[in-house]
Amino acid sequence: MSSLPQAVSRRRTFAIISHPDAGKTTLTEKLLLFGGAIQLAGAVKARGEQRRARSDWMKVERERGISVASSVMTFDYAGCTFNLLDTPGHEDFSEDTYRVLTAVDSAVMVIDAAKGIEEQTRKLFEVCRLRDVPIITFINKMDRETRDPFELMDEIEQTLALDVTPASWPIGMGREFLGCYDLWKDSLVLLSRTKGGLPDAGEPCSGIDDPMLDAQLPAHAVEKLRESVEMARALCPAFDPESYLAGHMTPVFFGSAVNNFGVRELLQGLADQAPPPRPQPTAQRAVDPCEETVSGVVFKIQANMDPKHRDRIAFVRLASGHFKRGMKLKHIRSGKQLTMHNPVMFLAQDREVAEEAFPGDIIGVPNHGNLRIGDALTEGEDLVFTGIPSFAPELLQKVRPTDPLKAKHLGRALTQLAEEGAARVFKPRIGADWIVGVVGALQFEVMADRIRTEYDVPVVFEPTSLYTARWLESDDPLALKKLLDGNAGAIADDHDGSPVFLARNAWHLDKAVDDHPKVRFLKTKG
Ligand code: GDP
Repeated sequence: MSSLPQAVSRRRTFAIISHPDAGKTTLTEKLLLFGGAIQLAGAVKARGEQRRARSDWMKVERERGISVASSVMTFDYAGCTFNLLDTPGHEDFSEDTYRVLTAVDSAVMVIDAAKGIEEQTRKLFEVCRLRDVPIITFINKMDRETRDPFELMDEIEQTLALDVTPASWPIGMGREFLGCYDLWKDSLVLLSRTKGGLPDAGEPCSGIDDPMLDAQLPAHAVEKLRESVEMARALCPAFDPESYLAGHMTPVFFGSAVNNFGVRELLQGLADQAPPPRPQPTAQRAVDPCEETVSGVVFKIQANMDPKHRDRIAFVRLASGHFKRGMKLKHIRSGKQLTMHNPVMFLAQDREVAEEAFPGDIIGVPNHGNLRIGDALTEGEDLVFTGIPSFAPELLQKVRPTDPLKAKHLGRALTQLAEEGAARVFKPRIGADWIVGVVGALQFEVMADRIRTEYDVPVVFEPTSLYTARWLESDDPLALKKLLDGNAGAIADDHDGSPVFLARNAWHLDKAVDDHPKVRFLKTKG
């Protein structure tokens, strides 16, 4: 058994960010292959293929078993334990995507070598930047006709305002792609085009002038390689670990996921350079991972994963301590003690019971709705973790059951989905409709689908003319009451019963803010 500091230093918790089709699924599969979790690789692939069309994707989401098995993937490589957290793969944004990115210590950005930075990559990158998440770049599909490596690196630098430094250099491209020169390890890694097998480890050389290169590569390829590496070394800054860890510099690997190529170097790069779990912020103090007592925070809830049991799993990222199955943890929001009888880890296709876990690891805690996003679990200390963001619902729609007799069922479904963090729901004090608030339009479709399939309530969503929602808080109960009483038509309650102002337009909101200086109008709920 390893000591706590040892276990912490070996953890790498990360996510892959990319635009659809860049190769995230393929790369994930190959990472797992190197990590020895081969049986899971098939499951990831099946999922990737199935979600090509949106209708299929819905079906897959319904078979939530699959998406859960692969929502956290744990594997070992090079003496490290990797936790790869999946970000939902569709083009639309959901709050889940943001939250997953708050639970990782670093990210891998996959870029299609022919396309460069695409829209979704840029958006996900912006989320990472908010927390200065360190990013390693993998430029994929070098076996196809690609853009020039310098041009691609320049684009990353320009569009993302990051310093860029090559960690490997590609030798040729498309059909002429022969492999890479590993600039970090000074070794030549050649592409073997045999399908399926793992590529040989690189052949070490004394540097870019080593005559071994001349023996292994065609003359024109060596010449071009030496010229490019010389130019890259002159033009690009040298790798600076501190700058990478601060989120200011990205090292770039070139490869071809489908050919298993460049994956080993990427993994080794993560093992060598990516950060282990860091201290986590709370309202009280920073929690160091090496503290003896266990603490963790819920960053995601997934409901009804096993159709036979209408259970929910709270995904808890451990912040400190050595977690063991059966231990009692205090649920800080309710003050209740929870015994961790059957926490789950997500190794391979089956959920496995977790016997022990360390900071950076994710455990799944089955529950019946008492655990919510942002909740802390500790061995007793009252901590409030502050790293999990809450989102302003930017899109608001009305939802009603197609069968009016099912209004009550709809209310229950919406409350549960809101607790899970799938959306915000508001019940206006006047009228029978519910209002749902989301950050990405596709969330409405997913909600409608889930309410129909999981709660048996067919619903329709309809646009509203509402402008925005603001949670209301005040230290002066009378001031708050005055606002609530005077604007009954614009007041709703969220699933917890907190009052919300639904503004018809910007002017309506501004006026209410001006008229009620003692009330705080909050975009998100703290
Ligand atoms: P995702 O949408 O980002 O998960 O992308 P996928 O991993 O599903 O890959 C999208 C398509 O690109 C699939 O047809 C893959 O087989 C293909 N692909 C992935 N990696 C490579 C690569 O290195 N070279 C080539 N030529 N195709 C690739």
